[in-house]
Amino acid sequence: LRPGSASYLEGLNPEQRRAVEATEGPVLVLAGAGTGKTRVLTTRIAHLIATGRARPYDILSVTFTNKAAREMKHRIGALIGPAGEGMPWLGTFHAIGTKILRRHAELVGLKSDFTILGMDDQLRLMKQVIADQGIDEKRWPARALSHAIDGWKNRGLSPEQVPPGEAGAFAFGKGGALYTAYQARLATLNAVDFGDLLLLCLKLWRENPDILQNYQSRFRYILVDEYQDTNVAQYLWLRLLAQGHRNVACVGDDDQSIYGWRGAEVDNILRFEHDFPGATVVRLERNYRSTGHILAAASGLIAKNEGRLGKTLRTEDVEGERVTVTGAWDSEEEARLLGEAIERLQSDKHPLSEIAVLVRISAQMREIEDRFVQLGLPYRVIGGPRFYERAEIRDALAYLRVTANPADDLAFERIFNTPKRGLGDATLQALHAHARARKVPLVVAARGLVETDELKPRARSSVRALVESFSRWARLVETQPHPEVAQTILEESGYTEMWQKDRSADAAGRLENLKEFVRSMEEFPDLAAFLEHVSLVMEASEAEGADRVSLMTLHAAKGLEFDTVFLPGWEDGLFPNQRALDESGRAGLEEERRLAHVGLTRARKRAKLSFAVNRRIHGLWSSTIPSRFIDELPEACVDVIDAPAHYSAGASRFDRNPAPFGSSYGTPGWQRAQANSANGSGFGKDAYNRSPGGRAGGPRQIEGELLAKSTGSPSAFHG
Ligand code: ATP
Ligand code: MG
Repeated sequence: LRPGSASYLEGLNPEQRRAVEATEGPVLVLAGAGTGKTRVLTTRIAHLIATGRARPYDILSVTFTNKAAREMKHRIGALIGPAGEGMPWLGTFHAIGTKILRRHAELVGLKSDFTILGMDDQLRLMKQVIADQGIDEKRWPARALSHAIDGWKNRGLSPEQVPPGEAGAFAFGKGGALYTAYQARLATLNAVDFGDLLLLCLKLWRENPDILQNYQSRFRYILVDEYQDTNVAQYLWLRLLAQGHRNVACVGDDDQSIYGWRGAEVDNILRFEHDFPGATVVRLERNYRSTGHILAAASGLIAKNEGRLGKTLRTEDVEGERVTVTGAWDSEEEARLLGEAIERLQSDKHPLSEIAVLVRISAQMREIEDRFVQLGLPYRVIGGPRFYERAEIRDALAYLRVTANPADDLAFERIFNTPKRGLGDATLQALHAHARARKVPLVVAARGLVETDELKPRARSSVRALVESFSRWARLVETQPHPEVAQTILEESGYTEMWQKDRSADAAGRLENLKEFVRSMEEFPDLAAFLEHVSLVMEASEAEGADRVSLMTLHAAKGLEFDTVFLPGWEDGLFPNQRALDESGRAGLEEERRLAHVGLTRARKRAKLSFAVNRRIHGLWSSTIPSRFIDELPEACVDVIDAPAHYSAGASRFDRNPAPFGSSYGTPGWQRAQANSANGSGFGKDAYNRSPGGRAGGPRQIEGELLAKSTGSPSAFHG
């Protein structure tokens, strides 16, 4: 890389170039999706190195995900080549925080080999702390307290700094004491949680100004991507580091702030100009990613938000294809149409790696993954496990596997003490010994063991209850439909209850996944067939490097781009989600709209939305209405395709006056659904009473109906 040639600067537009070349002093690039913000950052790094302003290790570059860090390393590698001088400090806030803490661990009371606790360990520890303080865990579950502590840490607050009123609102006024005790326990264990990775850096720097100064002078240049999603702790961390050379370049887009629920503060953007007076502010307006119609659709949608800084986006690309909206009869048909569309693209020689499916919630993935497996379409799930690999699904599967096959020891071990039933390692060891001696499976060993006095009375009755349950469930399989048995097992084992009591942010999603799991069983004649299907799915295609479709949540799609993006499930109550609709203020709905905007702007050439007029919510089929976001898309950039007859006969999407069915119903679909499910009787098949009469009518006629999965193909209803 020769400084004189500066070939890496070629092709940048004047504003981008300004952002790259303004190397000294604070820089804020505030610009919309696809305008080259990330490209500016990578080029800036190349420029700093090429012009000799910095050696790679003088540079600190912060990304939002590890994936983004890898991608940036790759891009920089391509720009600066094998320069041999190493790479910049490049990673997420957490990764960089860890690196710093390991070097100075002893100064914050740790050893350099400290462990970083995952969620599970964090909870286990919290439970001990709660018990030590003599607080009833039923009343103040560990998850709720962990959640509160995470929140405080996101705001950069150590135990002493939490406002007393706030801490007092927890655990009978003991919130603050619990936080202190939790930190003390972590310290004795030589462990930290994720929040500590930044908080302890702040503490380190506050108490050791010389070390702070050291880092301040070391990082001559600091760069931050996705700045709109930083939380307060991250902001404080950055501000401290950047006070040295003040060469800090942040890029972000307020319209893509989608982590408010995790403590991100879009106000950090506004604060930047205040804390770094004289900052160069660059606005980029040309979008290089998407064709005209896609960009117009995304811009039209986000214009409905009130809380915006406001900006223009234009493209010089062709108008391209319109955004398509496909209505499906139900979520199963939606998945089928999606699969067909991808197969068409594939046969037109579109690489699968240029196709992404972005969902609002992970429970939507199950039907789509199943469809992919049936079609033999290779896929990967980004940013999370595949549906059947999720912890709660694996637990549920383990229960079913033991029920179907008592010899499945691995499955038995998995749920042996999940939910907690007071069985520890000692019991498990006794079981194993018993099983080995008699060459029998663990369940059989357990049956024998409870007849001896080898186990303590409590453990014995607990094991007895468990094996008796499994015998009972195995008998149920003979007489009852398997989805009902699964439901019974999850209830009687206390597994569902475990998540219901759980107040953490992800508990609702896990319960939703469990419902989806039970629901998926209906598609198979019996339990054995279902379990076989699952093992096939688990085996399917994780072949590295293969050309695969990407499946992920909208949240995980930030910063990425694909030629074709499918966006299923655009229904009120799902997207925007019900919580946002129930909220009184606009904040929740606006964050959902930003998420929709992020989804649309991932697409280069094709954005394909879809919705289903029937979806199962909380286990019951109910009619839904298309997302209000669909109505908000400018008409000129949208094409309604494949609208099934039952859908278009009653009310056409083109009938914008009177308003299409989005706004013509007083109650959003999912609220009606809840009303419906109040009359329903859980998962029993009798609760569904699908009337084929819905076929010819528009959505008005199927409103409020409880719909069962038809035995035939949904397309039977098209004609
Ligand atoms: P997001 O907000 O979604 O993260 P972004 O602003 O970071 O988007 P980039 O990912 O950097 O945008 O760029 C979007 C696409 O446009 C990339 O494929 C990038 O290579 C391309 N691009 C950016 N600037 C230019 C340019 N000057 N000429 C050609 N292509 C460009
Ligand atoms: Mg980017």
